[in-house]
Amino acid sequence: MQTVLIVEDEDDIREVLAFNLKREGYAVLEAGDGRRALELAAGKKPDIILLDLMLPALDGLNVGKTLQRDLGTAGIPIIMITAKGEEVDRIVGLELGAADYVVKPFSVREVILRTRAVLRRNALPAEAAPVFCGDIRLDAADHAVRVAGAPVALTVTEFRLLEDLMRHKGRVRSRAQLLDSVWGFSFEGYARTVDTHMRRLRSKLGDSSERIETVRGVGYRARADEEACP
Ligand code: CA
Repeated sequence: MQTVLIVEDEDDIREVLAFNLKREGYAVLEAGDGRRALELAAGKKPDIILLDLMLPALDGLNVGKTLQRDLGTAGIPIIMITAKGEEVDRIVGLELGAADYVVKPFSVREVILRTRAVLRRNALPAEAAPVFCGDIRLDAADHAVRVAGAPVALTVTEFRLLEDLMRHKGRVRSRAQLLDSVWGFSFEGYARTVDTHMRRLRSKLGDSSERIETVRGVGYRARADEEACP
C-alpha cells in the first residue's frame, strides 16, 4: 500500500482529501503545519507528499526545500497546492522540484489523478544495473547517486535529469527532450526550468559536474567515459 502525506492547515480540505485518498486505497498521513510535515516525512517516509504552500509555522516552500536537502526525503515526489493568485506560480513550483502542481479550488478527482500519475511515473521499472559516468554512479533500483563513493541527496527531478543524461551518454539531449523525459507530457514546461534544475544538480555533483557539459543553444550532454574533461 502506498502512503500519501497531506500537508494542509485547512481542516476541511485536508479531511476531504484524506477521505477520498483512503477510499482509493492509499494509506494517508496528515499534517496541519510545516513542522509536523517534516517530522512525518522523515519518520514515515511517505511515497508522495501533497504540500499546501500557505501553512502556519513553516510555509510550504521552506518545507519543500528542507525535504529536498535531506538525503532521506529528497527522493519523495511533491505535488504542490497553491491558492489562485498566490505569489508562487507554476514555474516557480516546478523549479523548486515539485513533481506536479494544483491550484485551489481543485476538484478532488483531479488531485487523485495527479497523485496516481506521479506515483506511477516514479514506479516505472528501474533498470537493475547501475550506470557510471566518471566518478558518478547512479543506481536506479534504489534511487541512489554516489560521487566518488559518497551519497548525494538529489531531488526526484535532479535524479531523473541525471539518469536521462547518463543513459544517453555521449549524446546531446535537447531541453525539449529532457522536459519530455523528466516531466512527461503533462507539462508544457519552459527551457529555463531545465536550466535551473541542471544548475542545482551540477552544484551537488561537485567536481564531477564537469562530466555534464552544456551544448550551447541545444541542451546538455554527459561525456562518454573515454572523453577527457577539459
Ligand atoms: Ca493553507
